[in-house]
Amino acid sequence: MPYFFRTAPLRLLFVLGIVLSGRSVLAAQTVSINATEASVKIRVAVVGDFMCHDSQISAALQKDGVYDFSGCYAHIAPLIAGADFAFGNLETVLAGKAKEYTGYPAFNSPDSYAKAIQQAGFDALTTANNHSFDRQYFGVKRTLQVLDSLNIPHTGTTDSQSERSKPLIINVQGIKLGIIAFSYGLNNGALSEQYRTTVNVIDTLAIRSDIRSMQALPPAERPDIILVSLHWGAEYQLQPSPSQRRFVEWLFREGAHALLGAHPHVVQTVENKRFVRVQQGRLDTLMYPAIYSMGNFISGQRTKPRETGVVAWLEVEKTAAGAKIVGVGYTPTYIDKRRNEAGRTEYRVLNVPKALHELEQDPKAYPANVSKRLKEIMKELEKQFSTPDNSFRVIE
Ligand SMILES: [Zn+2]
Repeated sequence: MPYFFRTAPLRLLFVLGIVLSGRSVLAAQTVSINATEASVKIRVAVVGDFMCHDSQISAALQKDGVYDFSGCYAHIAPLIAGADFAFGNLETVLAGKAKEYTGYPAFNSPDSYAKAIQQAGFDALTTANNHSFDRQYFGVKRTLQVLDSLNIPHTGTTDSQSERSKPLIINVQGIKLGIIAFSYGLNNGALSEQYRTTVNVIDTLAIRSDIRSMQALPPAERPDIILVSLHWGAEYQLQPSPSQRRFVEWLFREGAHALLGAHPHVVQTVENKRFVRVQQGRLDTLMYPAIYSMGNFISGQRTKPRETGVVAWLEVEKTAAGAKIVGVGYTPTYIDKRRNEAGRTEYRVLNVPKALHELEQDPKAYPANVSKRLKEIMKELEKQFSTPDNSFRVIE
């Protein structure tokens, strides 16, 4: 529960008490003092790639022809509900049934795929990745139409043929988060001149320009925190490359506050850099998390550790002195493929710490192979999220 909301009722009672005792002038002073001291704290949850392979499409197809993905997030949704803002990367397009629903190598998923993500508690999606152009410009355009119709804010691709996708700025309880999303490239090769702007492809000048344009906004619109989503890195590598590490140093010098990456299909090691910055005339040591790859959040890939992912958590606090990231955490996730109660194949994202608690209560809650794997994942991710300052906590 954010600090502001936890303390607000107490403050209200205090003010009310004074008003009732007839000292309304003092009450007004109390309110203004509290207002300057007020701090807001929010929790942001970020996940890696939402993928949709052929096996997931056939599992979602119901007898009546409806594609139902709602079961995929039933186990993890209560965790996501604990976030004040949650987003991930949509690594498929929503080009409609006429274009045929397919998985790899050229993705196209039913519109209900996005609806299920929203119902799971996700508030926004990034759309820049190597599959953004899998159904060419038509797919880019229709995907954004579907997201707009669902009121899902997005960034990373655009249907404009003259302007790149603009940064997304979201106000979460008074803390403004600026989000930009770029992909290393596309499976279709370079975009032709006509569609050059439709997908944000990593380019230092474009990233710098997006950060600068946000920093140049008037204070009422300017983001407090800038989050950068990069779709990048070598597939199946558990470590980022030295050039990625250098790139992140550059990002943070440019003004980004956190890197949230994906694409390698596995969770990579993380860093939590610290820099001394001047905030409102005061020197402050700030943390800058670099989460190179959060892995698959959902996919049909079964080879371990591709069935492993993570929910990355950022705790952001804003006071009169400014906003900063004050805490980082992670929740290990596992993509379970099972036969559900109705006898149908189902892919579902498990909150691993929660599943381990369920196993403590009932050792038969999961099959033996799954329960063994869940324990392994805790250890594997503990290793990936260990930093010299031990700043990443497991969030259950
Ligand atoms: Zn990718």
